[in-house]
Amino acid sequence: MRMKKKFDHKKLKIHDPALCKECFRGSCCRWGVETDLLEVAQILEKRLDIPKPWFEFLGRDKSFPSGYKFSTLLKNRRCIFQDDNMRCRIYEVRPRFCSEFPLEDGKRASYYDELCHHARAKKKKKKKGR
Ligand code: SF4
Ligand code: SF4
Repeated sequence: MRMKKKFDHKKLKIHDPALCKECFRGSCCRWGVETDLLEVAQILEKRLDIPKPWFEFLGRDKSFPSGYKFSTLLKNRRCIFQDDNMRCRIYEVRPRFCSEFPLEDGKRASYYDELCHHARAKKKKKKKGR
């Protein structure tokens, strides 16, 4: 399994992780997330009072460590694992894409501007300033 890397957010200047600690919107979870079979296996070990299924099989993908790609299902237009307080119910075993977000392999995640309300607001402000 791929190791979770630590990134220097200050240096990258993409997003201040302190914002996530105070965030009560959790809008970055609204599309769910793609996840590897090995992560799925780990998550399935958790005892949660959420009716299964929790995942959808998306197909084979060589860029995923196991070669098999899944997606978390959505419920009420949110990832099935997000609770009513917008917190992740599988935080300690959440998929790599979630733990790295808003980065992805040390770069800005592809959907950062669409998913994070801070990023959206920043983009809007920038547009207005033009
Ligand atoms: S990335 Fe944005 S939307 Fe997601 S938790 Fe952080 S501040 Fe909130
Ligand atoms: S697994 Fe957790 S962190 Fe990832 S999208 Fe779902 S609720 Fe959000």
